[in-house]
Amino acid sequence: MNDHSDLKNIEVAIVKGDTPKETFLKGIEILGGISKFIEEGDQVFIKFNLCFPTGFPTNTNFDILDSLITSCKKAGARKVYLGSFPFKGISIDTISKFLNLKEYFSNLGAEIVFLDNSDFFKKKKLKGDQLNEIRNKSFSTVTINEKEYLFPKIIIDSDKFIIINQVNVNPVFKLNLSLLNSYSMVSPKYQDIGSYENLDNRYISNDQYKQDLISNILNVFAIKQPKLVINDFFYLLERAGPYVYRDSNLKKTGVIVLGNNALSVDLITLKILNIDTQNYDLILEANQRGLGNIDFQKINLLGEKIEDINLTINLCEMKLENINLKNIKVNSGQLCSGCYKQAYHLLNFMKTYMTKDLKYNPNNAFLIGNSPLEPERFKNILLFGDCAIKSTKNSNFRKLEKMSKKNTSKKKSTKKKHKSGSQKKEKIKIIANKNILELPGCPPDILNCFELLLQYYGKKNLPNLHFFENLLELVVKPKEKEKLRVMGVI
Ligand code: SF4
Repeated sequence: MNDHSDLKNIEVAIVKGDTPKETFLKGIEILGGISKFIEEGDQVFIKFNLCFPTGFPTNTNFDILDSLITSCKKAGARKVYLGSFPFKGISIDTISKFLNLKEYFSNLGAEIVFLDNSDFFKKKKLKGDQLNEIRNKSFSTVTINEKEYLFPKIIIDSDKFIIINQVNVNPVFKLNLSLLNSYSMVSPKYQDIGSYENLDNRYISNDQYKQDLISNILNVFAIKQPKLVINDFFYLLERAGPYVYRDSNLKKTGVIVLGNNALSVDLITLKILNIDTQNYDLILEANQRGLGNIDFQKINLLGEKIEDINLTINLCEMKLENINLKNIKVNSGQLCSGCYKQAYHLLNFMKTYMTKDLKYNPNNAFLIGNSPLEPERFKNILLFGDCAIKSTKNSNFRKLEKMSKKNTSKKKSTKKKHKSGSQKKEKIKIIANKNILELPGCPPDILNCFELLLQYYGKKNLPNLHFFENLLELVVKPKEKEKLRVMGVI
């Protein structure tokens, strides 16, 4: 399914402007107009960012999406579909209802695709075999590098495939590039890297999690490559991202990069934002697989010159200790990208949305990775991930010393003994420290961590998280979970 023909004529435009819409349209013109990409009667599929039921900049900027759909229609597209798989456990139907997406796109002459088939969930009381039938009709099984993926047929069958990507900072890959955007063409189940059973130092020191992740991303990308790729960082979340956190900052750059090859568009985006491309593993591996070109000489650069756009952005905090949460001391051992990514999001979430909870619960230690430093005199110890749990099994903090009196007889007899001069002997007992919360997983699942935190601290002590949990039930619906499972989505 890999189409190498585009590699001969790679064009990338760098555009700067006053508004996102104007800048995007200018970029399309520089590339030769939308008719260069869309032909009369085409069925077009647009892959955009659709993570949560929130707006831009977590999801794609709707101003640009609007212009892209209108351009495709003007070029004579017979059908314009849009879609993406959201965050694990959230159905597209739920997001569509929150954001009124079905009506919004319909008014533009386009259609949102419920890739998870969640539009069927409530229509009728569908039974398991009927859901299976719907799944088989909507997905193809594709094998790449001996791995099987359920891939949406509608994307395979579309004449033209476009990626429109909101660029924000990313904890593992520095930036949310279009290659990462393409990953959510498959459901969270097929994005999952899976846990590593026999934890050893090599898995961590080689950062095998990241290597497996890169391999999986590129497998998915190879299934259907886009004809047009738009990296929109006219506005970009820097410092903490890609979601809106307390330390996030929305930076206006006024720049959009677009072209006919995802890898080259990503490469130029990295270059403009002053990120080292020589050691950028995702790009290097994609190049090795022949998925694009990273030779600047072979990319026809149009529009602005890279050297004229001098942009620097603040990337995600690499050291979890520096996220600086009130009342939580973080101790990291040796860890891989899996735990780092999940802990990065959990800690940023806590810092942003659990401020009262942190204030009410002093003295917490958060240990992560293999053999983290032992915490001293902390009230609660949170062990994040299987490595932290297993490597601290014999740590000193697992046990507490408790003083006890040898004589435990009833009051009356105690009085007598006092009178007769007898004395209680103090004894030190070693007991298990119960103020430890284990957050298992390789890496742990964040929604599962929320539940375990609430159980451990109690809902009264975590009012923010308790409130958030109630909100979460509106978007991660238990009844839908089973159906998403049958659909092969989670
Ligand atoms: S538990 Fe965490 S640090 Fe350890 S191997 Fe798994 S993901 Fe990596």
